Amino acid sequence: MNHYYIGADIGGTTVKLAIIDENGTIVKKWEIPTNTDNQGEAIPSDIAVSITNTLKEETIDSSMVVGIGAGAPGFVDTTTGYIHEAVNIGWKDFDFGNLLKELTGMTVWVDNDANLAALGENWLGAGEGCTELIAVTLGTGVGGGIIANGQILNGANGTAAEIGHVTVVPDGGAPCNCGKTGCLETVSSATGIVRKAKEAAEYHPESKLNAYISEGTLTAKDVFEASKAGDEAASGVISEITDVLGMAIANMAIAINPEKIVIGGGVSQAGDLLLAPLEKAYRKYALPRTAEASSFGIAELGNDAGVIGGAFLVKKNT
Ligand SMILES: [Zn+2]
Repeated sequence: MNHYYIGADIGGTTVKLAIIDENGTIVKKWEIPTNTDNQGEAIPSDIAVSITNTLKEETIDSSMVVGIGAGAPGFVDTTTGYIHEAVNIGWKDFDFGNLLKELTGMTVWVDNDANLAALGENWLGAGEGCTELIAVTLGTGVGGGIIANGQILNGANGTAAEIGHVTVVPDGGAPCNCGKTGCLETVSSATGIVRKAKEAAEYHPESKLNAYISEGTLTAKDVFEASKAGDEAASGVISEITDVLGMAIANMAIAINPEKIVIGGGVSQAGDLLLAPLEKAYRKYALPRTAEASSFGIAELGNDAGVIGGAFLVKKNT
């Protein structure tokens, strides 16, 4: 008899959902908009209704579903599914896990979205089942997930592995969404790359970045492409943001001695343009013996990492 897991990856714009079988094969995946009105109060019922309807369409009886694994971008109490805070969604002190459990009648596990992505990549993607892994997601922000001794780290109050908020500019850094300044996220995220590129272009009037800036369309991808084409300002930015990121990962690596470091998120689509200088910086800053044990890889599951990680969260808890 087949059993199924449901993965739910809650983001600021959409909730990605999937029905996944015991081998990790996605049977059905779909998305619903994230309704952030009234501090996101309708999100649990939107998810519950959508799951119930989809199971009906797929003629899967809810008794065949082992549970739901859900991820949210914020600070999560993983034992209760209680969300301390998820800024992008509007949740604060929100009893999400229990609400979703009541609404669906299913068992629910909740974790931080970056942790779910790390679990997903480690189950079926670039992590290849490592027992020690650092996963970094470079998107609008910088997310992190750490697996140590085969377990995802959550910490005393849900902030473990939040690599995006490691301080990399002690004085005069840019403000971060977390309330601090000078966080890694302000430098090495897609947003940080664009900000750095704007600063660099001012000193390089010849840079082709200036054209994108005056049109207001500059993206992190443009910076990587300009760097590839030999643009000096762009190359300087890539070398700075990979140096800072490589140092942050190297410092974090001392804590868990990772076998694999997996880089995901939109910025990771730059592939080797990102990975080559990043790995070089990592090897420059890491303890040589720590560096020896680590290999780098680009995340393989793309947007499915979160829902697959959600399925894994159910699998490992049952
Ligand atoms: Zn921060």
